[in-house]
Order: sequence, then C-alpha cells, then structure tokens
Amino acid sequence: MVGGGFAGLSAVRELSGADVDVLLLDRDPYNTFQPLLYQVATGGLNPGDVTYALRAFAGRFRNVRFQRVSVTEVDTSNRRVRVDSGADITYDYLILCCGVTAHYFGIGGAQEHARTIYTRQSAIQVRDLVLSSLETVAQGREGAVEPVFVIVGGGATGVEMAGALAELRNAGLPLAYPELDPNRVRVVLVEMTGEVLAPFAPGLRTYTADELRARGVDLRLGVAVDEVREDCVILSDGEHLPSAVTIWATGVKVHDRVSGWGLPQGRGGRVQVDADLRVVGHPDVFAVGDMAAGTGGPLPQLAQPAIQGGRHAAAQVRRLVAGEQTEAFTYKDKGIMATIGRSDAVIQLPNGLKVRGFLAWLGWLGLHIVTLMSHRNRLATMANLSVRYLTWKRGANVIVGDPP
Ligand SMILES: Cc1cc2nc3c(=O)[nH]c(=O)nc-3n(C[C@H](O)[C@H](O)[C@H](O)COP(=O)(O)OP(=O)(O)OC[C@H]3O[C@@H](n4cnc5c(N)ncnc54)[C@H](O)[C@@H]3O)c2cc1C
Repeated sequence: MVGGGFAGLSAVRELSGADVDVLLLDRDPYNTFQPLLYQVATGGLNPGDVTYALRAFAGRFRNVRFQRVSVTEVDTSNRRVRVDSGADITYDYLILCCGVTAHYFGIGGAQEHARTIYTRQSAIQVRDLVLSSLETVAQGREGAVEPVFVIVGGGATGVEMAGALAELRNAGLPLAYPELDPNRVRVVLVEMTGEVLAPFAPGLRTYTADELRARGVDLRLGVAVDEVREDCVILSDGEHLPSAVTIWATGVKVHDRVSGWGLPQGRGGRVQVDADLRVVGHPDVFAVGDMAAGTGGPLPQLAQPAIQGGRHAAAQVRRLVAGEQTEAFTYKDKGIMATIGRSDAVIQLPNGLKVRGFLAWLGWLGLHIVTLMSHRNRLATMANLSVRYLTWKRGANVIVGDPP
C-alpha cells in the first residue's frame, strides 16, 4: 500500500488478518485527517488532534508493517517500487493510494506566494502567517501589509476556511486585539464561477453565499485570479487586491512524480482504472482514492470514494490470492456536507434530503469527530472545538504558534 490516507488505511483494515503480508508505505509517519485541517489553519485545533501515528496503526495488526518512505519509482514489469533511500521493495500486488496535491493551473506566482491547507505542515504555516499578520498590524509596525486574507476557490475547503477566518475576526478579535479595528481585517473569497459549493443544490449554494456574506466575507464571484504576488492578488477584472495571506483552495492534481511511473493517466493526472479498480493494463496494480479515476467516469475526490475504493481493492487482492475472479466496484453515495461556521453547515443526502443551519452543523460535527482515528484524537478534538465554540465570546481562543 503506497499512502496511509483514507484509502490506504481502509485497504489495510480489509487485509488485516488475511493470509497475506501487508506493507504500508507513507512519506509521513502519520495519517492526516484533511477535513479538519482548516481548523488547524485557524488555530482551533492542534496539529496532533488531526494526525495519527501510522506505526501505532500498523501495530494493531499482526500481518501489517509500516515504513516511512516516499515512493519515487514504480516498475510494474519487475513488480517493485523504488523509495527515496534508493532501496527497492518488491510486491505481489500493489495498491496505490497517494492522494493529490495543489493544482495551480499555471497561474503566475500562485505556487510561490499562495499557501495551501492540504498537509499538516501547510496548515500550520497558514495559522502562523495569519496570526503574525494580525500581530504585526496590531503593533502598528511600519510597512505592515493590511490584514486581508484572500481565499481562492469557493468549494468546500474555501468556504470552510473563509467562514472560520470570518468568525475569528468577528468574535475573537475584539477581545484579543482591542487595538485593532476589526473592519481592517478582511476575508475575501474569490470564485471564478458565479457560485460557491458547485456540487450542491442551488438552494444550498445560495444559502451558503448569504451566510458567508452575513459573516462579513467579501465574496467575489465570477471573477478569476490572474496572478498571485507576495502582497496582492490580481483579479481578471484588473483589480489589485491586497493580500497578507493568500490561501489556494482550488483544484488538485496527482503528484508530479506519478507521471514517471508508466501508468495511464487522465484528467488532473488521475490514474485510469478498470471497473475492479485495477490500473488499466496492469493487472497486479490497483489505484484508489483521489489519485484514481474509473474509465466509466471519475468519482468525487472525497473521503468516501477513497474509503470504499481502498476496501474494495484490498478485497480484490484477497480474491486474487484465493484464485477467484475480481468484482466490479460500486460506489455508495453517502451525501456531501460543508460547514460554514459555528452552528451552521449544509448537508445534501443522495435521497434528495437537504439540511442546513444548526441541525446540519450538529451532523457535520458528529460525523467528523466519530471518523477521527483514535479515542485520543476524538477527545482532544471535542475538547478543543468545545473551547472554541462554547467560550467563543470570551476571547480569541486560538492555539498559537511561532511566527514564520
Ligand atoms: C483541506 C481539505 C478538506 C477536505 N474536506 C473534506 C470533507 O469535509 N469531506 C470529504 O469527504 N473529503 C474532504 N477532503 C478530501 C479528502 O480528504 C480526500 O478525498 C481524501 O483524503 C482522499 O484520500 P486518499 O487516501 O486518496 O488520499 P490522502 O488521504 O491524501 O492520502 C494520501 C497519502 O499518500 C501519501 N503519499 C503521497 N505520495 C506518496 C509517495 N510517493 N510515497 C509514499 N506516500 C505518499 C501521503 O503522505 C498521504 O498520507 C478534504 C481535503 C482537503 C485537502
């Protein structure tokens, strides 16, 4: 298994106890619960609340081992992968679940100057930049860039980040930074289409946009980002928008090195798989989760397709080992959700049911806490989010870090 994310861990669980040796490889020593990274980026959660040691995970199963390595090459004809130490690891079956990374679409300066919240490190970096920006302006330092936070992309990640930053400004700032006029702190969300949360029903999109505006988010819909500079973003209508921190929350692509692995790739670099999730033309290799796309059409790059795909690929390995035929993968849509801020979220279920507001937020909160990896993660997250939301009016309640 290459990658200990949602797909990789689900595959490992399925193979635990089977008569096979499982080797889990990841470039990081921990699993990251990406859906709550925006909370780390806005100081609501500690990085440790949303990460879980992969060695501890592997240790739960007698037939599973973990190695912290980054896979650099895949040689399917000799059934081996090369890792960053230069060593080769051979396999009988390979399940690739390496996820994706930010796609900058060739927009000038985006890679250099915009930040992402796709990894633990990048979320911590955003948190430190946001807080040090507020600190610098509060101190009245000469030449300080105005605290304008620009989020590029109105999908779930962009909406969640904008909502959390707006709440930090609205509720936390007056007490934590009384010397700072909250009106100087701006949260701008830029989305090139005319609406936020494109995969949701029109009513939920409008609701979300209205709720963000009510929280003071400056929504720039139907305008694209042409260039990102260190201290500003240039929009397609010619406006130079000052920006202390630009957060890139639009578009993902498969890691660049995958293109050297000799596997068929489609849009966004996603590895093409057959109905049973085996890579087209490579019967010993499966690809699942965000990095893969079925020839019948891509699934959304969300946790559920990754979890279900990982489980299915591992079940097919069991079948192949037992000399049986593989089965086609069927995705069970469990719906989509996004949080807008405290007590506010939207949920859309496959049966058409739509929930919004407080009830949706409770559902979002419950699901995210339940799906965290360990009891410790769940308790820490519950405690930190309770402090953030219940004592909201009494201070900024942010977990602080060192300025970069
Ligand atoms: C900020 C954010 C918020 C999100 N919110 C939601 C949400 O609310 N709901 C939802 O359903 N989905 C959400 N998603 C999407 C969801 O997190 C992904 O769809 C899911 O993580 C995909 O799982 P995966 O296993 O394919 O990849 P990942 O979970 O990304 O795991 C990939 C793993 O592979 C490892 N890896 C990569 N390359 C290599 C290599 N060469 N060698 C070794 N290891 C490697 C990585 O370190 C990582 O651990 C969010 C994503 C982000 C970034």
